[in-house]
Parts: sequence; C-alpha cells; structure tokens
Amino acid sequence: MPQGKQPIIFCDFDGTITLSDNIVAIMRHFDPPGWSGIVDTIVGGRKSIRQGVGEMFALLPSGMKEAITNYVLETAGIRPGFAELLALCKAKGIPFYVTSGGVDFFLRPLLAPFDIDEDRIYCNSADFSGEHIEILWPHPCDDACSNDCGMCKTRVMRGFPKEEYYRMLIGDSITDFEGAKIADIVFARSHLAVRCRELGLPHYEYETFHDVIRVLNTITETQGENVR
Ligand code: MG
Ligand code: ZN
Repeated sequence: MPQGKQPIIFCDFDGTITLSDNIVAIMRHFDPPGWSGIVDTIVGGRKSIRQGVGEMFALLPSGMKEAITNYVLETAGIRPGFAELLALCKAKGIPFYVTSGGVDFFLRPLLAPFDIDEDRIYCNSADFSGEHIEILWPHPCDDACSNDCGMCKTRVMRGFPKEEYYRMLIGDSITDFEGAKIADIVFARSHLAVRCRELGLPHYEYETFHDVIRVLNTITETQGENVR
C-alpha cells in the first residue's frame, strides 16, 4: 500500500456481504413470470443493470413488500468474518462503505445489526405506492459513466480521488465490474474473480471475510514498516 494515502473500502452487498444474490433469490422464490429471461439479458450484456432490475421488480405487486423483506431476513446468510472485518476497519481507521446494486427495503434490515453509518450505505430505493414495485435510483451514473449502472459504484468511488485514497473494492459479480477497473486493489470471488483474471486487474481472491482480513493486515503492516 502506498504511503500517505488514506485506505478506503467499497464493499458490495448481494453475494458479497450476503452468501448469495438476494435479487436472484427473491425472483426464484416468488417466481413472477418472465424474470429469468430478464436476468439472461442483463448477464448477456443486452440490457443495463438499471433497466433489468427495474423490470424484474415491476413484475412483483407492491403488496408483497413485507413478504419479500421477511423472506430475505429469514434466508439470507451473512458471509463469515463480516463483523470482524468491520471491527478491523474501525481499529485501523479505514472507512467502510457499502456500495450495492440492491434495494434498501431488504438491505437495510439485514445490515441493521452491524455497526455501519447510515450515510456510508449506498443502494437503490423502492416505491410501493403503485400497483407494482417501482425501483428508484437515487445514485445514478454521472457524465463520467455510460454503463447505466442504476447505483453507480464508480461515481461513489470517484468521490474519493485516487491521488488521496487507496481504493479497495470487495465484490463478486456484474455490479462490481466497472468499479474494479478503477480500484487500486480488488477482493474478488465468483464472476468478479474470473473478470479480474481476464482483464489482468490486481486482485486477491476470497471466500470469507477472514481471507480479506488476512490480506488487509499484511498490506497495512507493510505500510507501517515503510513509515518507520
Ligand atoms: Mg454482488
Ligand atoms: Zn455508472
């Protein structure tokens, strides 16, 4: 880790903090007709994440809000070592941001037991006033991103300029691809690990947050030795 830069972490939620992708799990469980075709078009790159996720939730009636939230709360598992990683970041003065393409109504209740500042959680929102769920996008792409992310991770990351910050991204999949390109270091699993290997991006592969903690301890200790 270079001297004089503030380390900072941007961590994905679905399939990263949680063991599996909650949006896919929600769709698979409630199974509104047409959802799997939409997933295929997103994965195939024929539809943006924003457009596809918006279309999938629009298949679900607004009255299902509570059932969906309860389903996620009951079934989503947290990846081992998450609380320990938060504690380490606090001890080392590393700001920890959640940057998620997920939606607040199921994300915030799952994160409630953990010690994370509200204003360090970036995700999408939802409106239940209509007949079907409408996803809202409070953090869309700016002029510097043409990816139509929905929740634009690169925009959040660019708010912490690389001249001042050592930007670390933790993720697993398609919503992390653009952020990984501008991160100083990527912690990757699943599809993101494959993409990092393909693009030759500097990365560490992890299965649990204990793996991330081991690397963080090593690179921050190295920084300490350089200072001495
Ligand atoms: Mg993910
Ligand atoms: Zn974007």
